[in-house]
Amino acid sequence: MASGVDSELVGHPTSRAIRKNPGYAKLENKSKAIHDSLSGVVAETQALMREIGQLKDAQATIERLALTDSLTGLANRTLLTDRMNQALRGLRRSQGFIGVLMLDLDHFKVINDTLGHQVGDAVLIEAARRLQHLGRPDDTVARFGGDEFVLLVQGLANAGDLTAFADRIVTGLRVPYSVGTEEVVATVSVGVALTSESDSVPTDLLREADMAMYRAKDRGRNRHEVYGATLQVRAIERLGTERVLRRALADDRLVVEYQPIVDLATGLTVQAEALLRIDDAEHGQLVPEHFLAVAAETGLLPVMDDWVRASAMRDLLRWRDASRSAGVQRMCVNLTARELASPDFTSRLVGGLQAAGLEGGDLSIEVTEHVLMQTSHSAVSSLGELRALGIHVGLDDFGTGFSALSYLKDFPLDFLKIDRSFVERIDIDERSSSIVAAIIGLAHALGLSVVAEGVETAQQLARLRHFSCDLAQGFLFAPSISSCDFMRLLAAEEATPQAC
Ligand code: C2E
Ligand code: CA
Ligand code: CA
Repeated sequence: MASGVDSELVGHPTSRAIRKNPGYAKLENKSKAIHDSLSGVVAETQALMREIGQLKDAQATIERLALTDSLTGLANRTLLTDRMNQALRGLRRSQGFIGVLMLDLDHFKVINDTLGHQVGDAVLIEAARRLQHLGRPDDTVARFGGDEFVLLVQGLANAGDLTAFADRIVTGLRVPYSVGTEEVVATVSVGVALTSESDSVPTDLLREADMAMYRAKDRGRNRHEVYGATLQVRAIERLGTERVLRRALADDRLVVEYQPIVDLATGLTVQAEALLRIDDAEHGQLVPEHFLAVAAETGLLPVMDDWVRASAMRDLLRWRDASRSAGVQRMCVNLTARELASPDFTSRLVGGLQAAGLEGGDLSIEVTEHVLMQTSHSAVSSLGELRALGIHVGLDDFGTGFSALSYLKDFPLDFLKIDRSFVERIDIDERSSSIVAAIIGLAHALGLSVVAEGVETAQQLARLRHFSCDLAQGFLFAPSISSCDFMRLLAAEEATPQAC
């Protein structure tokens, strides 16, 4: 009689059997020998065969989930890091480079917020598909969550190949995305890091690519930047600029200049734009291009902007006191994204107006297109609050940013400021001219007024008048000037000389 002295289970490799129905069944075979308890010889063999297709599928699914991103099917951080380690080991044996590209879709939040998550997801899936298509088969494309993708490129002979590849990605991803009936525009900022050293560390490479990506965002998005000497130089520059800014604030060396904004129907100055400068003892006069990015990064800009607004309001009152007519109807100030989103912004602004004895109707606020597109709905509703106070809100640099014209109807706005890059080509290039005409027509149809900025020639002015543009500013009328010079300019318009 066979008793229960079992041998070890002998697991045979899995096998396949042809099903009656089409296809194969995956089988696991196990057999065991049952020994006779007296003689020890094998008395019988039991075999177990079971179908394990479902189990194997489940294992594969778990493995896939652990290593890939569920939305796009791309590698996740774990798998990418593993591949990076492999690629770095490969550098011990062969010469060459590996490159890491960190990508972030520009203004993706706006797509999600305005068009819904389904559209957002469809854009991510399509972006993933394009990235796989653009890369080579042995590149790894990963998604790090949100709208952040990472590409690992191996076997590069020189660094130039990588920057050319980064350019192809920027170009390939900015082709509009068709999602149902929507046509979605999404550009990408790419940070590039590369190494030829096998002892490089994946997290360091990712950090460097990330820093370069932020630099690409800083420099206007829709582009790539390479990590390297330029970033180190910039870090040193940045320290220097921050020192200059802090010194300017401490020593009261901020200066506001004003540029006249002219009513094209009457030719008179009706508004002024306040523009900040720093009068630095060491470097002379600095314009925003030199310090704005650092002021924003270091959190100093809101303080500076408060100062600009307070000075501008004081100067507006001075001009009005000195003038016979109402003169300048509104003072325009520029606003940053961070201020717009800060919860106490409206109350600070109203406090400033009250302290100066002015009303909402005396002020205009200019927000750049980029700023508005980055902004949350709550900040947009705070624009609504400002408008309820009579403050005019306008979109600055219009035409340079992301906004599809269709977004205009969703934002509470009073005016558009057409970017200088269109105005400067209006008399030499038919395309720019048609764009400006169309923007003015559309803005008027939406009840918005239009300001043209950067008007430098009489021909540009004539065209703008022809297109029924409402207001204009630019060197043709005046550059930005001191408060005293502005008062003189107003007096000259009224033909009443003023002492300042
Ligand atoms: P923006 O608001 O587009 O200001 C217009 C810029 O164009 C000013 O440069 C002005 O001097 C310049 N400009 C005006 N007319 C002409 C022209 O006919 N031709 C040319 N080529 N340029 C002209 P600026 O003062 O250097 O300001 C640069 C940017 O810095 C501004 O662009 C604005 O976005 C920002 N900014 C200026 N002041 C402030 C401020 O107080 N706070 C904040 N947050 N941003 C400011
Ligand atoms: Ca402006
Ligand atoms: Ca502008």
